[in-house]
Amino acid sequence: VHEPVGVCALITPWNYPLLQASWKIAPALAAGNTFVVKPSEITPLTTVALIDLLTEAGLPSGVAGVVTGPGHSVGARLAEHPDVDLVSFTGGLVSGTKVAQAAAPTVKKVALELGGKNPNVVFADACATEEGFDTAVDQALNAAFIHSGQVCSAGARLIVEDSLHDRFVDEVVRRASRIRLGGPFDADAETGALISAQHLAKVEAYVAAGLAEGAVLRCGGKRPDDPALAGGFYYPPTVLDECGRDMNVVHEESFGPVLTIERFTDEDDAVRIANDTEYGLAGAVWTQDAGKAQRVARRLRHGTVWINDYHPYVPQAEWGGFGHSGVGRELGPTGLDEYREPKHIWQNIQPRPQHWFRG
Ligand code: NAD
Repeated sequence: VHEPVGVCALITPWNYPLLQASWKIAPALAAGNTFVVKPSEITPLTTVALIDLLTEAGLPSGVAGVVTGPGHSVGARLAEHPDVDLVSFTGGLVSGTKVAQAAAPTVKKVALELGGKNPNVVFADACATEEGFDTAVDQALNAAFIHSGQVCSAGARLIVEDSLHDRFVDEVVRRASRIRLGGPFDADAETGALISAQHLAKVEAYVAAGLAEGAVLRCGGKRPDDPALAGGFYYPPTVLDECGRDMNVVHEESFGPVLTIERFTDEDDAVRIANDTEYGLAGAVWTQDAGKAQRVARRLRHGTVWINDYHPYVPQAEWGGFGHSGVGRELGPTGLDEYREPKHIWQNIQPRPQHWFRG
């Protein structure tokens, strides 16, 4: 049988805050738990509104709670609290390791959904037709720049077969430099601002470091000079070519609209480069060769691998990462199991003495 775990602490990040809260609240409730959710201090409002709606819908008092405030105090207290039985955390690697440490003395269940540095591998044969080329370029832009790259599974590492590199990257750069930045009320905007001034400065620092280490800037790379964008934390889609694994911008998560390009020579080389990361959240492979697609997908050490696609998420399929991308899974049957304790009940239908002693 399965039992609820008990009281769950659900700690969520600022990107897609309503979605992140829903991915935790739904299975926590379905498994029969109570919970306290702590949204990011930058984006608490949708979570507070969701809890209001659950209360209005008739959830019994005491089942759903929300606390707001900074991670280092409010989040940390939840992680260490003796009355909390499970902590499910989505956020960055540094905070995630602190949560695991805080939870250890009380032996809580811990699930961590952390960052990623996700490879998007494009074989030349995927672009043998004009339609194939157009699709792979379009999806490489979607992978890297949607939501200004503030996506844990963003395809921030484009890994292109050598023979395709020049044509493919030229077209990626041509289209990336045309992506329209704008505010949330600008109907023509195709991507928006970064979350904060601090985050903008972090993204700029990664680009500067990449250029200092030898990356070639192909587009973007500086704040837009359009006066209409002066009031926001805007940063344009930026493409850094001729990147190598030793660069910080390639192996650390910038979490911004920064696409690095690496080249590969053959299948083994592609897999080696794509797996050359401490993270292991998601990745994609583009090829028309079905055997190659399956071989590469199986060899990639990432929790989700898309073949000839990027960014589909379905509630039936597990989500989570290998390595530094986390512990445990959300969504799918395994995601529900995170919120349940399996219990074995044995019933002897003919109890007899065992006679193991002679007295
Ligand atoms: P963050 O780690 O700064 O904060 C996440 C949450 O943890 C916030 O609610 C914060 O207040 C709290 N927190 C911070 N320090 C804490 C501590 N010591 N103890 C307890 N709680 C603490 O992350 P962020 O900047 O809000 O979000 C971006 C990160 O989230 C990126 O690294 C991104 O890759 C990751 N992310 C991962 C997934 C996934 O599914 N794997 C999804 C979305 C975002």
